[in-house]
Amino acid sequence: FFRALEQYGISLNRPQMAAVRHQTGAALTLAGAGSGKTSVLVCRTAYLVAVRHVQPQHILLMTFSKKAADEMRSRIRSLPVLDAQAASGVEARTFHSFCLQLLRGRGYRQSILGETGQKHIFFKRLMRELLLQNDYEPETLLAQLSAIKLRMLSISELPETTTEERELKLLFTRYEQWKKELDKLDYDDLLLETFRLLRDDETLLATLQRRFQYIMIDEFQDTNQVQYVIVQMLADKHRNLMVVGDDDQTIYSFNGAKNDYILNFEQQYPGASTIVLDINYRSTSTIVGLGNAIIQYNKQRKEKTLLAVKSKGINPAYARLKSTQDEAQLVVEKIIEQTGQGKWAFGDFAVLFRTASSSRALVELLLTKQLPFIDYGDGQLFYDQWAIKPLVAHLRLFLDRRNFDAIEALLPSLYINREQAMAFIWNQDKQRAKKWPLIHLLDFPQLKDFQKDKIKERIKLIKSFADSKPADAVMQLRQAFYDQYLETSKRHEMTEHKEGLKEVLDEFEAAAGSYDTIEAFMAYIDDITDKYAAASREQKHGLNRNAISLMSIHKSKGLEFPVVFVIGASEGILPHSSALAADKHSDRSSIQTGIDTLTEALEEERRLAYVAVTRAQEELYISSPATYRGNPAELSRFIRSAFSKDCEADGDGETALAWLCTSDSCQVWQRIITYEDSQAEARSCPLCRSPMEQGTKLLPSKKN
Ligand code: ATP
Ligand code: MG
Repeated sequence: FFRALEQYGISLNRPQMAAVRHQTGAALTLAGAGSGKTSVLVCRTAYLVAVRHVQPQHILLMTFSKKAADEMRSRIRSLPVLDAQAASGVEARTFHSFCLQLLRGRGYRQSILGETGQKHIFFKRLMRELLLQNDYEPETLLAQLSAIKLRMLSISELPETTTEERELKLLFTRYEQWKKELDKLDYDDLLLETFRLLRDDETLLATLQRRFQYIMIDEFQDTNQVQYVIVQMLADKHRNLMVVGDDDQTIYSFNGAKNDYILNFEQQYPGASTIVLDINYRSTSTIVGLGNAIIQYNKQRKEKTLLAVKSKGINPAYARLKSTQDEAQLVVEKIIEQTGQGKWAFGDFAVLFRTASSSRALVELLLTKQLPFIDYGDGQLFYDQWAIKPLVAHLRLFLDRRNFDAIEALLPSLYINREQAMAFIWNQDKQRAKKWPLIHLLDFPQLKDFQKDKIKERIKLIKSFADSKPADAVMQLRQAFYDQYLETSKRHEMTEHKEGLKEVLDEFEAAAGSYDTIEAFMAYIDDITDKYAAASREQKHGLNRNAISLMSIHKSKGLEFPVVFVIGASEGILPHSSALAADKHSDRSSIQTGIDTLTEALEEERRLAYVAVTRAQEELYISSPATYRGNPAELSRFIRSAFSKDCEADGDGETALAWLCTSDSCQVWQRIITYEDSQAEARSCPLCRSPMEQGTKLLPSKKN
């Protein structure tokens, strides 16, 4: 078996082989990025089928994201030791799809309430209906509710001593009831219903236990309690449970993931074999070194250092740019240069970012330059998201008062039912008088006085844009829509949603700032919208196999790419401003989510930085805009501290000091220079001549 793999170019190391050969009982692998955890699961699957003659359907592999599950299936299929039929017989799934399939098979017909959009709207309606005393933020509450449910706490047992507690309890209870009445399940329910089903239906559980004789879980560090319990139930008969993960890559704490499960696994399964993998096969040694240098500052971790086998390769590069526009420009130039030289294809590149809105400049530049890319985000253009769409609609109405699409798009912001109102307007507008069609709404029967006032206000506002630059108009709209809401927060711990909203609005204002007239700005948005639609169509039809991958760091977990760009390595972006808001953590709510202190929040952000850099196989480019939405932004502390002087090099010849130019004016890719290269005591940047900061060991020890 192993020889066959070798001929195929995979020669596993000893601990990896031991893991693949692991026969029965529980096993745990806690190991760093790129050390072959997923590979071990894939090879063990093949080994069980090819060598131990286990029927494929007796094997269950679970992982976190859809992309990771797809990847796993394709890795299994590509192994030469398995035939296609056997490979497709293995269940390799995400938790959610496993649960959904199970529930559907048992006659559950409920529709699924989508993650953010639908659930959010649903929740907001309910909040309005209940007329709560406090001003709550739906997103934060949803996260709290999720954390409660995923920790398998019952809503009925929540405390109700304070008004706030009573209100939240009422809200959560009503949400659950309402969902039930409308026959819907949300994502958390998928897991919980599965748990209940397995708990109550012994026959079913026994069947599944008999079926899944070998269970393997990837990315175990991000397992939440319900998932963990489901796994325990399924594995209870055979107890052939192999879990792999990396506590340094826990990045879903806000979803109730707990490092504890992986760190306490051996207590849960006494006698579990543990397998240590410490060689990184994915990345060049300088990339591995940078990953190690970043993550070493976390306190809450099992200490481990990754060794490298690959050569030093091309040193990671770094650039500090004036703005996100310049950053996007530099990234795109690099990609064009490298594809032009035939060095890499578009499909070899990935661009990773902390939040979707920080990728706006890049997405639009790629669209403008017509470069092929796949956006693994929510499939929405920046200007189409719920907070921005009504604002754009107002600007469009300014240009054309008879733009009915725009009228329709702004109705929700007036709390008016779209279909009825549109039908009414169409009807009234038959003569196509010069009157603003929106004015007809004043005669719409079910309207309350405050809504009528709002309509008049809006029309007045839109008319006032005649003398405005687009950025001013956006600012006025923003004031009219959101500023009051953004400023009236009495509740420190509830700023997450507001942070997100503010971020999106700042970005929109920054975008408008590049245009002199509203007309030009709208023409640009129209153009980008068309291009985005065309790009999405190609994506849907799978025409773009060779395309640049764009995704959030969260989505990139478990994946790898030859060339990786990590954009937005600046304070406020990574670490994200929401994590930095210290007062948010000092004033704790009675119902806590997964992250309760500033230290915890920062450690989670640092893990994100670690996940990001460790996705790169051959080349890594980190960029840091010096201004972000008009404010100065320091270089990310994670990058700076990786080069901090207080970290001494080992001096054994295998480690090296690195040098980093942190000047804001050095607007080019700057290879992070290792000590070996420089051999000098102190240096100035060869490009911009400013003094460089001396740093830390960037080259990990080599494994021979
Ligand atoms: P992550 O923590 O990011 O999920 P991982 O531990 O799951 O990483 P893999 O994705 O399994 O790591 O492996 C990383 C890369 O190293 C893959 O390209 C894989 O093919 C390769 N690899 C793993 N083991 C070996 C080996 N023994 N020899 C050569 N290449 C290997
Ligand atoms: Mg993996």
